[in-house]
Amino acid sequence: MLLPGTDVLFLFQRDGCRTLRMTIRSDGSVVVRAPAGLSEEKVFAFLFSRLDWIRSKRDFFTSHRGTPSVFKEGEPVFFLGRPFLLHAVPLIRGVRAGFEGHRLKLPCPGRDPDENTMERSFRRWRRETAALVLGRRLARMERRACALLGDDAAVRSLAVRSLRRRWGSCSVRGNIILAEQLIAMPLPLIDYVLCHELCHLRAMNHGPAFHACLRLLLPDAVDRERRIYIWSLEHPR
Ligand SMILES: [Zn+2]
Repeated sequence: MLLPGTDVLFLFQRDGCRTLRMTIRSDGSVVVRAPAGLSEEKVFAFLFSRLDWIRSKRDFFTSHRGTPSVFKEGEPVFFLGRPFLLHAVPLIRGVRAGFEGHRLKLPCPGRDPDENTMERSFRRWRRETAALVLGRRLARMERRACALLGDDAAVRSLAVRSLRRRWGSCSVRGNIILAEQLIAMPLPLIDYVLCHELCHLRAMNHGPAFHACLRLLLPDAVDRERRIYIWSLEHPR
């Protein structure tokens, strides 16, 4: 439903709840649940009284996405926790994607690239950059873990790909998979994910041995885990 006279769209549900409840999801959508008997006028009046709050929350969520919802000139993307604005440049030999000031330059074919073209260019940049950045960082963390733990548990292989539901995984054989989307996060949070997977080389489950290992590598692991949770809510993939 559209709140009359505004730009606020919301999903309206009636259920057995006793009070009116409103949630803003991390994708910026608004969900309102109302008791069966409450009139529509009362629901609207409630939403009008919260209009500024709804708009500011919604704008916050849409401007902090890890990946833009629309791939247009000037949309923000995050790299190592900092925002950069998408900027299309002509696809000419020798011009590569990369940062220029506060912008992420993306070579695109055609004069006025559409959203799909920008998205393809962005994904190519992210895949290549993530493989490079995460590969180097994991190798460094792997050496550090072996030095601190006094063993030689080695990563067998690393694959970096687009993952929507998890940040990483580690198989019994030591094959680690990391999400490309990780490069949007601040480095201390990326390090948490890398150390988490490196600890799985020594303990497959999340038991006491795993946590002892993680505490040795990152004494503030619990705090970083909480920050990743908040980061994920504020920057949907
Ligand atoms: Zn785990």
